[in-house]
Amino acid sequence: MHTDPTCIFCKIAQQEIPSYRVYEDEAVVAFLDLSQVTKGHTLVIPKHHAKNVYELPEEVAADVFKRVPTIAKAIQRETGAIGMNVLSNAEEVAGQTVYHFHIHLIPRFGHEDGFGAKWITQNDAFTSEELTTLASNIHSQV
Ligand code: 5GP
Ligand code: ZN
Repeated sequence: MHTDPTCIFCKIAQQEIPSYRVYEDEAVVAFLDLSQVTKGHTLVIPKHHAKNVYELPEEVAADVFKRVPTIAKAIQRETGAIGMNVLSNAEEVAGQTVYHFHIHLIPRFGHEDGFGAKWITQNDAFTSEELTTLASNIHSQV
């Protein structure tokens, strides 16, 4: 398993830095985010060091994602959250500050609970032809 001795989340995974753990197994650790955007805000990480989604090996992705529903439901039960945002930031423009892949589980308690993602829908920005070409071009690169 690849680890980076300079990486703060590798240090958390290896227990060199303490954390409020909510789950751990041979491949994955989940712990409370120090920022607690909302109560119960949790990070799920692989023990394997990968920078972000672009560099995540498929088998590591499978290990992490398959734990998410169980951890999410435990957070929901404990906090009484009425919803949850599940997200992962990749690169600076998307808000990534720690370059070890992680999934944020952000329990939601209402529209003014401290978390918000701004969505500006652009239903008319692209023609049907442009969307067809776009989908086809992405499809050919998967
Ligand atoms: P990002 O901005 O990269 O998506 O998220 C990084 C998150 O890691 C932030 O929400 C930040 O609060 C959290 N974080 C950074 N350092 C530590 C730490 O040492 N311990 C814990 N528990 N969370 C951390
Ligand atoms: Zn790391």
